[in-house]
Amino acid sequence: MDQPFDLLIVGGGINGVGIARDAAGRGLKVLLVEQDDLASHTSSASTKLIHGGLRYLEHYEFRLVRESLIERERLMRIAPHIIRPLEFVLPHHRGSRPAWMVRLGLFLYDHLGGRDALPGSASVALRGTARGAGLKPEIAKGFTYSDCRVDDARLVVLNAIDARERGADIRTRTRFVEAARDGDVWIATLADSETGARSVARAQHIVNVAGPWVDKVLGSVAGAAAERAPRLVKGSHIVVPRMFPGEHAFILQNADKRIVFAIPYEGDFTLVGTTDIAVGSADAARIDDDEIAYLCTSVNDWFATPITPADIVWSYAGVRPLYDDGSDSASAVTRDYVMKLGTGEGPQLLSIFGGKLTTYRKLAEHALEKLEPFVTMTRGPWTDCEPLPGGDMADGDFAAFMRAVRARWPFLPAALAERMGRAYGTRIADLLGEARSLADLGADLGGGLHEREVSYLVEQEYARTADDILWRRSKLGLNLSADAARRLTEYLAREKAHV
Ligand SMILES: Cc1cc2nc3c(=O)[nH]c(=O)nc-3n(C[C@H](O)[C@H](O)[C@H](O)COP(=O)(O)OP(=O)(O)OC[C@H]3O[C@@H](n4cnc5c(N)ncnc54)[C@H](O)[C@@H]3O)c2cc1C
Repeated sequence: MDQPFDLLIVGGGINGVGIARDAAGRGLKVLLVEQDDLASHTSSASTKLIHGGLRYLEHYEFRLVRESLIERERLMRIAPHIIRPLEFVLPHHRGSRPAWMVRLGLFLYDHLGGRDALPGSASVALRGTARGAGLKPEIAKGFTYSDCRVDDARLVVLNAIDARERGADIRTRTRFVEAARDGDVWIATLADSETGARSVARAQHIVNVAGPWVDKVLGSVAGAAAERAPRLVKGSHIVVPRMFPGEHAFILQNADKRIVFAIPYEGDFTLVGTTDIAVGSADAARIDDDEIAYLCTSVNDWFATPITPADIVWSYAGVRPLYDDGSDSASAVTRDYVMKLGTGEGPQLLSIFGGKLTTYRKLAEHALEKLEPFVTMTRGPWTDCEPLPGGDMADGDFAAFMRAVRARWPFLPAALAERMGRAYGTRIADLLGEARSLADLGADLGGGLHEREVSYLVEQEYARTADDILWRRSKLGLNLSADAARRLTEYLAREKAHV
């Protein structure tokens, strides 16, 4: 019989793949199962920020904010293609938090730790300036500070690829059904999500990172101690045609004391979000009319040209699987993560609640620290400066990297080169290889998505469906016609038939 896996990780969101990567790099034999596509739930439905979380300071989450601030620049260094600085403008007017309070918050944000490359905060004039363009004329001043933006779904897939390259077995469309102890190991039943076919895996320990389904997985493990159900808080976003010029984002204060972001998105659009709504089930991740109205009203309080629901070109919703700390309001529930380990000797079950994209790498380190007494690892923490796939560019200099890309593959149109450079970083060479013309990339299925790129995504990045490619490996879905999406589906079916 094969050796059992050291770890069976349930969940292919950011926290699952982060743990898989870290553990595989420490010599552990890892199996990760994801019931759908990688990042198909909360981890592709975020505001797409690697940030300290300025507003969490109001809830005294100093540990979380400090850890997140330190992670910002670390993550930017290991993945400069998908993570980059973003300046935020915080406009100020009557009804906003007092200026002294904002200054104090920004002072803490600047000094809690980890800021090296990103600029500090400042007070700025807005009326008549480039930063204030698009705002109502009565808004005269505000503040700026910096965080980072990220392609959330690609952050997940890059961690999964790296985990695989370090020996992990990553199985998508594979559902964890149940597990029971058998002596020194867990016997887990898995099911193919497409065919329903069952299989069995043996593992020393189970890591339950099923996000909003964490308690459901916990309930499927025989003998597991019951934990409090996670607090499920839905957050929705809308995407509208670009509302303001420039590359900065806005952080807007609402009358209800919440904040809403307006972020330049995929060139031609603005991303607006998010809401905070307590929900009873993880399956409730759909935006509703009240949220749409709320987001439109929030930005219309600040921008000169109002938006309406008719302007929305895309929307998405996700459910935060937060640890229930007993807070009254959904916005106040802690965003920090909590780990629960089964006590005693023998096979362990580690369940993880909460967390942010920003803290996934530290969360993985903490998870392995918890498991260290029960499993032998070949080395200690290592992920803080080891680049993610495609992120190994000299000095993290993306502009210099792009100059080299344009020189080596001069036939690529500028927008396509930029999109591929951002998505694949230095792995663009694996995709383009010795191609000398666009024709070498096969037919254009629409929007610059060529057959060769589709094959790469299927072979290297676990993509199987048109949605995987158009909404998670890329955001080409925003610009592609329904016809092009259909062509892609047909192409994938033909390719599958040939395998
Ligand atoms: C609206 C919103 C905005 C956010 N914005 C930010 C932000 O800007 N920055 C930031 O740092 N964080 C942000 N977050 C938080 C961040 O997105 C989440 O903390 C993170 O994505 C959670 O990842 P996860 O891996 O724990 O969960 P998920 O991404 O939900 O992954 C869990 C996975 O487990 C799988 N699964 C469940 N049950 C099973 C089973 N039985 N078998 C196999 N697989 C199973 C699911 O299919 C799922 O893919 C935001 C969250 C939301 C909702």
